[in-house]
Amino acid sequence: MLEAEHVGFGASGRNGGWCSALFPASLETLAGLSTRDDALAQHAQMRATIAEVARVCAAEGIDAQLARGGTITLARSRAQWARAEAEVAHARSWGRGEDDVRLLGRAEADAVLTATGTLGATYTPDCAALHPVRLVHGLARAVEARGVVIHEHTRVTAIDPGVAGCAHATVRADHVVVATEGYTPALPGRRRSVVPVYSLIIATEPLPESAWESIGLRRRETFTDHRHLIIYGQRTADDRLVFGGRGAPYHFGSRVRPEFDRDERVFASLHATLLDLFPHLRGTRVTHAWGGPLAIPRDWMASVDLDRRTGLARAGGYVGDGVSTTNLAGRTLADLILGRSSDLTRLPWVGHRSRRWEPEPFRWLGINAGLRAMALADREEAITGRPSRIARLAAPLLG
Ligand SMILES: Cc1cc2nc3c(=O)[nH]c(=O)nc-3n(C[C@H](O)[C@H](O)[C@H](O)COP(=O)(O)OP(=O)(O)OC[C@H]3O[C@@H](n4cnc5c(N)ncnc54)[C@H](O)[C@@H]3O)c2cc1C
Repeated sequence: MLEAEHVGFGASGRNGGWCSALFPASLETLAGLSTRDDALAQHAQMRATIAEVARVCAAEGIDAQLARGGTITLARSRAQWARAEAEVAHARSWGRGEDDVRLLGRAEADAVLTATGTLGATYTPDCAALHPVRLVHGLARAVEARGVVIHEHTRVTAIDPGVAGCAHATVRADHVVVATEGYTPALPGRRRSVVPVYSLIIATEPLPESAWESIGLRRRETFTDHRHLIIYGQRTADDRLVFGGRGAPYHFGSRVRPEFDRDERVFASLHATLLDLFPHLRGTRVTHAWGGPLAIPRDWMASVDLDRRTGLARAGGYVGDGVSTTNLAGRTLADLILGRSSDLTRLPWVGHRSRRWEPEPFRWLGINAGLRAMALADREEAITGRPSRIARLAAPLLG
């Protein structure tokens, strides 16, 4: 395993710790690539992957501080409530029952998570909150114990069939798997395969029990709301609130730089959103803030692929849903490379190729216009309560 920096340097070591059944492409998109049953099979495998990650942690003695509390998605305006109802109606139309996703009325939602302006929520049991660095370090130990050698500070600069070229060495292998996610555009020939979009996070100091009595999250449910520009939070095992979101700009030419991990304007906006949800946290210290790039394919369709002819394989394009999906990708690639035909190798994301992103400056214009539009749509909905048309108009720019 060749790693340019160190284990956990990438998104896997800095994410929001949602191990969920979320998949970036819709069931309709998956069915369009294959069949309705195959789309549902992909969803079922995503759900099962949460249990698989928990099983691996238990079996390998990885203390990832995993808690399977599910996810609560609040509706905090009439427009958000309309989306919550539509999401559940859509799930039912696919035969997904109450055990998968359900509506919560206001009192039920408050009993899980008490935030301002809640009208109701959707709830799914399919998520575990975890500590990402503990997971990734534990996995590294587990594979090293099986004989895998991890070469840190070893940047791959060229990839060809059977060969990964580094500055001071050439590594030969029957199969070469590219799993560089948000960093992929820096590799030769892959500049437009995905775009790196930044997600940023803040973490509070550990909160006292009195604060948790009013907030809730007793089972460490992960939380968000039905706004357009994604936010995500979790109660950590040491009682902090970790709270992240999109909103940082896309950087021209798909650049990824250490300085982009921090954006004081976005950190301030995340803090303001946190206080909007929980005003009684005013005065609570934010002790940590960080960020990193995730990868978005042009059609928002994560995929895994093995070219049997060349031995070149790849996995990625998870958008912000890679904690569980990387596990499914790993198991799927193992089956593909070992030539095993399995339920996993028949899933619709296998072998899918997303089209390339537009060249600059169209990429920069489109993605940043889309991000702006989502933020504007949320502001408009907060004022009018009605579903924003801006979001619908901007959807083709992003999705
Ligand atoms: C701030 C943030 C919050 C997120 N929150 C969540 C969440 O709560 N839930 C969720 O499911 N997903 C979340 N995601 C997405 C998720 O973390 C990623 O989808 C997932 O971790 C991707 O894993 P990966 O192993 O494919 O890529 P990464 O973890 O990004 O690893 C790629 C590795 O490749 C290395 N590399 C890059 N180029 C080279 C090269 N040329 N040679 C050698 N090595 C190279 C990098 O150093 C890096 O370590 C979040 C992402 C971010 C950035």
